Amino acid sequence: MDFDNNERIVSPDFNSADTETEISLRPKTLNDYIGQDKAKENLKIYIEAAKNRNENLDHVLLYGPPGLGKTTLAGIIANEMGVQIRVTSGPAIEKPGDLAALLTNLNDGDVLFIDEIHRLSRAVEEVLYPAMEDHALDIIIGKGPSARSIRLDLPRFTLVGATTRAGQLSAPLRDRFGVILRLELYTTEQLSQIVQRSAGILEISIDKNGADEIASRSRGTPRIANRLLKRARDFAEVMDNGVVTEENAKIALSRMEIDKLGLDNIDRLLLMTMIKNYNGGPVGLETIAATIGEESVTIEDVYEPFLLQLGFIAKTPRGRIVTPLGYKHMNIDMPGQQSLEL
Ligand code: ADP
Repeated sequence: MDFDNNERIVSPDFNSADTETEISLRPKTLNDYIGQDKAKENLKIYIEAAKNRNENLDHVLLYGPPGLGKTTLAGIIANEMGVQIRVTSGPAIEKPGDLAALLTNLNDGDVLFIDEIHRLSRAVEEVLYPAMEDHALDIIIGKGPSARSIRLDLPRFTLVGATTRAGQLSAPLRDRFGVILRLELYTTEQLSQIVQRSAGILEISIDKNGADEIASRSRGTPRIANRLLKRARDFAEVMDNGVVTEENAKIALSRMEIDKLGLDNIDRLLLMTMIKNYNGGPVGLETIAATIGEESVTIEDVYEPFLLQLGFIAKTPRGRIVTPLGYKHMNIDMPGQQSLEL
């Protein structure tokens, strides 16, 4: 089986359906940024303190699953500090020279945002350490015995790093961040607010129940909520008078094969495979990946977090298992259990 995960409608990763609108939908200030109260409250204090002291903000590491608003938050930090932001990503910085060029082009106070920072090469990381710590760049001039190192002063910048996997970050890099914030999956209530805000910007008519319906199927992820909103609008315009309501949103979502909890056919295939082929587990990640024809990293980063959060699967030392809740959602009796009184 071959799925293009990037084009999957409930994929939290950025895809072609998001390009035109993602930028306009990004909140610009902390007050417009819905949810993530803990991270927001802390940031507010750090930003205010830095501004009062006329200093730049300490380096910030944001971590959490894709689509939760890390890039958005980096933009907000720059905006609230009144500075410019440069955006790049770990894989885009191939050589130490690429990073040196980026750093020397910054202005005092600027924010440098590095997405997927866990994917920086070791050689690039080595350049980053003195830059983060002393705002300096060590350059080697010449080769062999005559080589010498000179130190260049850099502007005082704030690095904002984002990663889906804090655990994969090297310890020396992680230690150089003064502020580490973890972003959480959003509640349905918060997502409903985000859907209503986005609908306002995109001039989509939607009622509260319609927004709640979309929110409850968006896997805790604003990027997915915004995407489902746009698809639901298409259905509302063609089938109805253009207003997204609970009824037409339900129809739209079921046509997209997204069930009432936000699971799509790949999630269901994954659960079904574990149940039918492996008796509900325990089964290893690699085995599941091979059986459904997906990369194991994709299963780990994209499908599992939400299924784990719902409590449909669990990780054990011997592999993944489907829980009673997972069986119940798939409408299958769990072996050895007569009734599922949950
Ligand atoms: P990440 O960098 O974590 O993958 P993004 O910052 O690109 O996520 O966010 C994806 C989309 O979700 C953005 O276009 C933005 O509109 C929306 N979004 C994310 N967080 C929020 C929020 N707290 N409030 C409103 N919209 C949000």
